[in-house]
Amino acid sequence: MPYIKIHSQNFFDNFHTLCQVISPNNPQRLAIVLKDNAYGHGLKEMASLAKECGIISCFVKNIQESLQIVEFFPHISILYPNPLEHSPLFRQCLESPNIYFCISSLEKLQDYPPFSRIELKINTGMNRNGIAYNHLKEAFEVIIKNKLQLIGVFTHNGFGDNFGCEFYAQNATFLEVKKEVLKLCEKHSLPKPRFHSLCSSAGLRANTDCNIPQSLQDDCYRIGIAFYGYLCQEEILSIPLSLKPVASLWAKKISSRNLKKGERVGYGGASTLSRDCVVSTYDIGYGDGLFRLREGMELYTKEGFKILPPASMDCISVESEEEEICVFDDVKKWAEAFHTIPYEILTHLHPYIPKKII
Ligand SMILES: *Cc1c(COP(=O)(O)O)cnc(C)c1O
Repeated sequence: MPYIKIHSQNFFDNFHTLCQVISPNNPQRLAIVLKDNAYGHGLKEMASLAKECGIISCFVKNIQESLQIVEFFPHISILYPNPLEHSPLFRQCLESPNIYFCISSLEKLQDYPPFSRIELKINTGMNRNGIAYNHLKEAFEVIIKNKLQLIGVFTHNGFGDNFGCEFYAQNATFLEVKKEVLKLCEKHSLPKPRFHSLCSSAGLRANTDCNIPQSLQDDCYRIGIAFYGYLCQEEILSIPLSLKPVASLWAKKISSRNLKKGERVGYGGASTLSRDCVVSTYDIGYGDGLFRLREGMELYTKEGFKILPPASMDCISVESEEEEICVFDDVKKWAEAFHTIPYEILTHLHPYIPKKII
């Protein structure tokens, strides 16, 4: 069976590096994004490491994910809850005082029973999810009428990776949102909610402006990919930060054979050997969520063994005779080969692949 090694020291090092750059005086402002099985790393495994670092807030994808880690953190926000599905599980969330529901539209706000703890998402220019800025007043009216508990108000700055003014424009819009929220809270005698807006790359660009009063600053940062060891910023923005990939993927040998130069391997004989060598198959394939290596792609294991395309559903052929190989300890090369981002390669890894924390 293939497995994923979770390099705990790399995670701890990333935590310290990110604290130092983003929030040196208050590490608890770093929240971890654990959605999608912690970007393929294993939800519970990463939750336990995050807890060990003293992280107190996290973000997950859905109701099921929140309940799996309910005992790990004092603040768990569900990014995409659906109160109308899975009603017994939704009830369980309602009864857990540390679980909050992120609300992406005015209509959805109506679906929540009294005393639900909510975080209101506001659209500040990414135009994907969130309540329109000019509907804040209506949102507060529903909150009061339905006795909802407003825990947070947030937005998603979608321009952290990109050079240009949109990043700053979104921050400026969110600042206006925060001012309006404080006014509405005062009017309705509600406690100040927490504010947050920035992901990994955006958080690294946050420039805590001392002229902005504390009450209008962000209270936490939603850090995902950087905790797992990657950043995907445009070159011009890249800062010298040594983040370390946390996951490495390992596979075990199924069988070996001696082959001669010129012999062909796999479906359609797509790979032709350029020398006599031993070729072995290993027990990971695209059925396990590893992207399917195709003809013309050149990728090597960590040890430097050539992976021979095409990949099969349950195995890959490699110019190696080792019992075990490391398919990758850094997914950047895979992401490049498939013209995608590390996020996509990582989140595709099937949750049933066992995790070994080392
Ligand atoms: C996924 C996600 C993040 C984390 O983004 P990274 O780029 O991985 O740091 C933050 N906020 C929201 C709303 C997200 O969906």
